Amino acid sequence: MKTLQSLKTLDDLETSGLVTDSQRADLTAVAARYAIAITPAMAALIDPADPNDPIARQFVPDAAELVRLPEEREDPIGDGAHSPVEGIVHRYPDRVLLKAVHVCPVYCRFCFRREMVGPQGLGTLASQAMDKAFAYIADHPEIWEVILTGGDPLVLSPRRLASIMERLSAIDHVKIVRFHTRVPVVEPERVDAALIAALKASGKTTYLALHANHPRELTADARAACARLVDAGIVMVSQSVLLKGVNDDAEILATLMRAFVENRIKPYYLHHPDLAPGTSHFRLTIEEGQALVASLRGRVSGLCQPAYILDIPGGHGKAVISASTIEDKGGGCYTVSDFNGEAHAYPPESGQSRRG
Ligand SMILES: *Cc1c(COP(=O)(O)O)cnc(C)c1O
Ligand code: SF4
Repeated sequence: MKTLQSLKTLDDLETSGLVTDSQRADLTAVAARYAIAITPAMAALIDPADPNDPIARQFVPDAAELVRLPEEREDPIGDGAHSPVEGIVHRYPDRVLLKAVHVCPVYCRFCFRREMVGPQGLGTLASQAMDKAFAYIADHPEIWEVILTGGDPLVLSPRRLASIMERLSAIDHVKIVRFHTRVPVVEPERVDAALIAALKASGKTTYLALHANHPRELTADARAACARLVDAGIVMVSQSVLLKGVNDDAEILATLMRAFVENRIKPYYLHHPDLAPGTSHFRLTIEEGQALVASLRGRVSGLCQPAYILDIPGGHGKAVISASTIEDKGGGCYTVSDFNGEAHAYPPESGQSRRG
């Protein structure tokens, strides 16, 4: 499907053959509540004839989004509980989120911040709020890293990004600036020389965490955009969300993680889906997630292993939730499972007994 502009309305989606007339009645309620956007690059990847297309599933609205479960939360990871000033979330001592913008080039149907992003969302930080956010960072010498997220910070113009970097540059204790973005994949043409230059500042190290969930998202254009970033000295890591019907498959996950590594992007986090409203059709159980993550271990290079992460609801931060491979037997003795699931004593039983 070739389009020149992002698809943002049900009309656009219907004209493109991504939703049918009969689906529209249900989707009107979804569209009234949650933002829609599909960039040309992502629309081009969708096979409208495939009802289970993993790209469509991530971006095309679904009537299932109207299903709201009691455990789902408007602020699933508790950003609000740790926001000392507008735009800043300070949950861990050495790093803050700076949410400068609440707009994205695409709107993911499973988004954990879906109540805050989009045209009806929190918008872009006004310049006074921005001043306060920078003052907060400057006043807290323990802040070593600033993480730009949102929203997608790479929707900002190079001029605005450069101005953010310049202001951070003036704060000595900030050493790392990290951008969380989907732009290199969903709008690769945006990653040009001006944007790349704007992400760098003297004395700071720039990291870019790329959000992608299916190997098909890493098109030739996306790979070229990532290569431009890495060649420019920006360190790239990945983050993906484990999603039912998109990547809940050992082979797809292995291909995705290998594709990251092939493109000089170190797999970082694989997130268990958050309890965002209307996203239950994307959630698998933690047990299913653990089995998938365990299947990568041993089968696939260590470079390709992401950490399996749950953001604990209520603002308690992230926890690694892969199944433990070690069991404490007491007295300094353990049982450790290998990648085939076989258990081994540690220290090995053939040696001297430790208790002897
Ligand atoms: C996820 C998150 C971070 C970043 O965590 P890392 O483990 O460093 O990737 C920082 N602050 C908040 C509030 C977060 O939600
Ligand atoms: S790009 Fe990130 S913030 Fe934007 S809709 Fe997708 S998951 Fe949400």
